Amino acid sequence: MAKPAVERTFVMVKPDGVQRGLIGEIIKRLEQRGLQIIALKMVKPSVEHISNHYPTDEVWIKRLGDKGFNVFNELGIDLKEAMGTADNLEAGKKVRKWLIDYMTEAPVVAMVVEGVHARDMVRKIVGSTLPNKAEIGTLRGDFSVDSPAAANLEKRAIKNLAHASETKEEAEKEICHWFSQEEIHQWDRPDHKAMF
Ligand code: UDP
Ligand code: MG
Repeated sequence: MAKPAVERTFVMVKPDGVQRGLIGEIIKRLEQRGLQIIALKMVKPSVEHISNHYPTDEVWIKRLGDKGFNVFNELGIDLKEAMGTADNLEAGKKVRKWLIDYMTEAPVVAMVVEGVHARDMVRKIVGSTLPNKAEIGTLRGDFSVDSPAAANLEKRAIKNLAHASETKEEAEKEICHWFSQEEIHQWDRPDHKAMF
């Protein structure tokens, strides 16, 4: 019988995760939590493909820039001086451009992950967007120490190893963006009989 709350989410090992030899570690952490990889491939994405992966609406772009700006207050760095603008939307557009540069630097490993509460589980495993704030025990907390202050001052994106969908809508859109129906496989993990 199908388990209630079984969900699908989209996960991607980002270029820094691939370059640092962390593909296996990232997949291991998903599988050990009982999650199933039901689609998997390595891709060198085009600028267009990555640009269409991330949202284009102004609310998302503003939030993207906003996420790291507290760090500037904490460090007493002037936002306008650091980002070249005090306008959140303009700053967000710059971060979005840096993000696309980062995501097209090297191949990524894209996957569809299925399991009970998969979206929240994967977000927990991956950890906070800002590695310097991420909890120890999460992927970003264990393998990265990048921060928005460092990244923004160097005019680049925050390198944080993996992407994971945040909402049901985001997961559905991203799965369709990266995989065809034929590339997604339905299979059983017999150990689930002992887990649930
Ligand atoms: N990002 C960045 N600078 C910021 C905020 C985000 O470079 O100030 C990058 C970072 O790589 C992040 C990605 O943009 O993972 C997407 O941002 P989002 O807020 O969706 O974070 P996520 O869902 O990846 O935790
Ligand atoms: Mg996100």
